Amino acid sequence: MEQLVNKYAQKLIQAKLGKASGPSQPIIGGLDDMLVWNRPARETQVLEKIFDHLNINSLVFLRPAQPYKSLIRYLANQALSTTNGLIQPKDCETRTFLHDLPVIDSFNPKKICAVLKNRKSVIINPMDDTDSFEGPAIIAHGTVSPEQGFVTVSSVCFAGFIKFFTDYLESLQTGQATQAAHDLFDEITPYIQEEQKKAPKFIPFPFADEKTVYSAIIEAGRKTVEYGLVDSYFGNVSYLWNGTLYISQTGSSLDELESCIDPVPLDHSTSAGLTASSELTAHLETISRTGCRAILHGHPRFSVILSMDCDPMEKATCEFNTQCHIKCPKKRFVDHTPIVPGEVGTGPTGLCRTLPVALEHSDNAIVYGHGLFTISQDDFSHAFDTLLSVENRCRNLYFKKVFRLRNNPS
Ligand SMILES: [Zn+2]
Repeated sequence: MEQLVNKYAQKLIQAKLGKASGPSQPIIGGLDDMLVWNRPARETQVLEKIFDHLNINSLVFLRPAQPYKSLIRYLANQALSTTNGLIQPKDCETRTFLHDLPVIDSFNPKKICAVLKNRKSVIINPMDDTDSFEGPAIIAHGTVSPEQGFVTVSSVCFAGFIKFFTDYLESLQTGQATQAAHDLFDEITPYIQEEQKKAPKFIPFPFADEKTVYSAIIEAGRKTVEYGLVDSYFGNVSYLWNGTLYISQTGSSLDELESCIDPVPLDHSTSAGLTASSELTAHLETISRTGCRAILHGHPRFSVILSMDCDPMEKATCEFNTQCHIKCPKKRFVDHTPIVPGEVGTGPTGLCRTLPVALEHSDNAIVYGHGLFTISQDDFSHAFDTLLSVENRCRNLYFKKVFRLRNNPS
């Protein structure tokens, strides 16, 4: 357990969600025979009480680093003063994983437990400056491993990020942006214009043996997380080799795919695939329609944000206005990248029905509010380059749109 609490504290720091030093470093506790913490901290006094009241084995406590700190504080203030203490993002991770993001205004174990009984996370955000607790902080629990809290906290930061930037663009389009929103945007922009790394090199096509296929998939997953194109628990990777589709397992960490890859024979000769990614059907269908070998799927932030950008006038009169993610009837694009609706899974509104069709005409496509899929015919280089370059284009496009609207308010 000691190893695990340290591992996930490190992963939060690597993902730039937590600070590497000082009093704001992540705090993670895990319970085996006894309760261990990754580091001593005065917050553990309160956090220990949560273990007494909930049937959990681990807790993650994070004071998020910038830009998450400022944007979560902003969203939390808004939630506490207007929407009953709930932040309600509309992205896919929230919809399928978190539901919503509850906020409370004090670091109080009773209040924390009351929320964590029904939700994976709680945000602590004292509104009063005289409160000695420095907010905002995110708390999430696990019943099996600290990995669960780590995944939840990462997802809360992701959802908050998507929520702020989506809302801000929309508020500029409707002429309702507040000074506070402008100020926050200006404050956090420097953290987002990160230097653009060059795409890495990948194991080249053709792959000589099965072992190389596994190595190539592991490498592609790790790089996708390393480049910030997905948080480790989400996304998926697959590769078709010798009549078998090798695909990351559902719920696996994309940056730790060793022993989490399922071989699924295309002729169904074995029953493998039960633990395969929830998007297995979409991958199989994509391969049969496009003849591609490699598929890469991440949740790059500005691709997700721009996929949800819809003309407010049009939206107001659209009959599918509240079901954009499954029923948007319009042919939409960001640049040349098609945007399709579709849910995770294989239901009637599943992305397996929309995505593969879009990929027939484009080597990349965004699923509304969810993420980007890219394909290549040989190894992972092209799929990865596309993932990175589409996200960079979306980021630039987003800032262009914002600056144009700020200079010419409607
Ligand atoms: Zn996804």
